[in-house]
Amino acid sequence: MSDLRELLARTLAAEGALVEPIEPDGLEIMAPPHVQQALALPEWSRVGFGPELPEQAARVSFESDWAERLERLLGERGRLARVFFQERPYPIPQQEFEKIVRREFVLQNATFRIGQVEEARACYLLLVFHVTASSDEKREDLAHLCINESNGALADGLAGPLLSHLRAEHYSEGMLQNDAVPAGACAAQQIRTGTAGLLIPKIRFQLSPFLAGMERRMARDLERLHVYHSDLRREAAKRLAERIRKGANTDVQRVDQMRLEAIEREYHAKVADLTRKYAMSVEVRFLQALRADMPVRRADLAVLRRKGSRQTHLDWSPIAKRLDHFPCEGCWTLPRIYCVCDDRLHLICPSCLSACPSCGKESCRACNPVKCSKCSHPWSGR
Ligand SMILES: [Zn+2]
Ligand SMILES: [Zn+2]
Ligand SMILES: [Zn+2]
Repeated sequence: MSDLRELLARTLAAEGALVEPIEPDGLEIMAPPHVQQALALPEWSRVGFGPELPEQAARVSFESDWAERLERLLGERGRLARVFFQERPYPIPQQEFEKIVRREFVLQNATFRIGQVEEARACYLLLVFHVTASSDEKREDLAHLCINESNGALADGLAGPLLSHLRAEHYSEGMLQNDAVPAGACAAQQIRTGTAGLLIPKIRFQLSPFLAGMERRMARDLERLHVYHSDLRREAAKRLAERIRKGANTDVQRVDQMRLEAIEREYHAKVADLTRKYAMSVEVRFLQALRADMPVRRADLAVLRRKGSRQTHLDWSPIAKRLDHFPCEGCWTLPRIYCVCDDRLHLICPSCLSACPSCGKESCRACNPVKCSKCSHPWSGR
């Protein structure tokens, strides 16, 4: 059975419809009134999913408006699922784990000490967003964020393995329908703030090929415009010079001068049109969240900078088989190497501790997100 057929059959059955599989790759449906209304179906209908349709069947696909119809049917339900993994599927030996921590958690201006290494439980929150970028073209995409709620680290590598693990294990029976917030979970406000910061660099990165294509098209159009108006300008200027040389009267010269100015105005207006045409807007809409409570291998860490020390921990998730990754506390990107600030021992990327362009002093962008603490120079692009 195709994924979509199974999804639709299960959803319809849960909504009180009578559903029978029919061949090839279809369903016969008797729908109650609220389902008829949400899915725009008659009481009795047949639908098909494959290249060949059963007799009298209408085609259902994700590319058509069926995703929206299903969303209409479900409303706010199904936004949050919770899954609880009892066992640790892939144990990792302690030595290997410590080696990974030392290899992947690299500090440029500080050191760290590994404290206790233990089996622990962590809640990961997988958030799925729908991203629509529009300029002269439109592009739709999904963005995933996977946050370890115990320390705010990111585990984006967990999204794919987590979803396929759930599919492979038919985990749906094990999913808790419990809305209670588990012990290790973050408060909603904290999630909202963190997500807003994390999504911007992520979406910027994800959209970079689309943005590059748009910039190429815009540069090509600007070049064409420039060449066309340069030719017009050159001809008009030549004509004016010719008239002056031949001693034409000032009225005739003024007409040519005005023509030259009109060409210039038209050029600037067309450049402004192009800038509007290619301006990109991005809309991000939250779709779904999955909270996965699972066993992890945890290393307690003491980050040491001068006389200061900061306690934190890093988890290794057995499903992603990877160590989590702290985002930079200044700009939310994922650095390969961290710097640590003197005041509050923030873990930041090197550019978030770089010298202020005005006074040349180092300033932590997590401690001072808006401007330099020494000379109040505002950070650009923030
Ligand atoms: Zn940074
Ligand atoms: Zn400064
Ligand atoms: Zn700081």
